[in-house]
Amino acid sequence: MNFNQELDDIVNYEAGKPVELLVREFGIKPEDVIKLGSNENPFGYSPKVNDAIISGAKKASFYPDDSMFELKDAIAHKYNIKSNNIIIGAGSDQVIEFCIRAKCRPNTKVLMAKVTFAMYEIYAKQVGAKVIKTSSNHHDVNEFSSLYDEHKPEVVFLCVPNNPLGECLDKDAVFNLISQTSKETLVVIDGAYQEFAKSKDKNKAIEPKELLEKFENVIYLGTFSKAYGLGGMRIGYGLAHPEIIKALSKLRPPFNIGILSLDAAHEAIKDQVFVQSSVSAVLKEMLRYEAFAIENSIEFIPSWGNFITFVLEEKYSSTQVCDWLLKKGVIIRNLKSYGINAIRITIGRADQNNRVLELLQEFFSSKHKL
Ligand SMILES: *Cc1c(COP(=O)(O)O)cnc(C)c1O
Repeated sequence: MNFNQELDDIVNYEAGKPVELLVREFGIKPEDVIKLGSNENPFGYSPKVNDAIISGAKKASFYPDDSMFELKDAIAHKYNIKSNNIIIGAGSDQVIEFCIRAKCRPNTKVLMAKVTFAMYEIYAKQVGAKVIKTSSNHHDVNEFSSLYDEHKPEVVFLCVPNNPLGECLDKDAVFNLISQTSKETLVVIDGAYQEFAKSKDKNKAIEPKELLEKFENVIYLGTFSKAYGLGGMRIGYGLAHPEIIKALSKLRPPFNIGILSLDAAHEAIKDQVFVQSSVSAVLKEMLRYEAFAIENSIEFIPSWGNFITFVLEEKYSSTQVCDWLLKKGVIIRNLKSYGINAIRITIGRADQNNRVLELLQEFFSSKHKL
């Protein structure tokens, strides 16, 4: 059967491996698996969310409130913006899709960093848009500027901090870049890891309110999947001028968020103490990975997210490390599919990190050198 030819050019998103795989393939007990491949919160979610999910279950026979009034109200309150500045997606992933579909047709241009969140490219290609990437792996503002002038893309993606590498543009650099764009260009600021970045370094903090006050052509994306610990609930949001929200809303399927997810997110956003304590613990544990890399002469990329990337150069193979760890019950992320010989490790709890660092030490002993 023939399918849209746009699909020929798409490489499937390689999702982080699930716990069930290790249970099935290696007979490891689920509770013994250390899952540090998808940048989830190793502390789970706020204890208050549990009650919301349990009481929400009683409502499961009803469709959810499609206006999502309460969650929007809570998000509006948190960021000091209005409900008509907000769209809710099944993960911020879905909002990325809305942005692409609202602006792109075949051959429309979309600009992004060479190594960044893979879904930008996948959604762009689904509609036949042309993806323009910087030549440097990291976000390079000069390159973004010159490629912008050369190609006049309809959509620009800035991932701050960047997944999977971890680097993060300063807020000033981001604002400066946006100020160079036309009002017709939609600039997507992906803040999936902003909770970590702004806690580590105030120069990286992007305040959605200030962003929306200064620029009409931006959308800020946030998610409940990372610092809030609700990856399984599939819920995220986009914040922008009402005109943009109105356009994107035409693409939103009704009831795109399940009733339990809405309740869980609403409860999670109220417990900022939980989020902040997870963020602090993760940033503290990250220092151990940095020290380990230095001691073992492994190159690492300083990270503003909840993960760290080790670049293995010619010394080791990322596939070998990942496969070896998998058999020991540890899931991390191989960045081979991004075209680099590197691994990305989500920062876990101290007990998990003890085990991972111990295993990595064993692996990086000379017998595994290439
Ligand atoms: C995880 C992630 C997202 C979205 O995750 P959802 O679970 O779909 O909300 C978006 N952007 C980046 C960079 C991410 O790492």
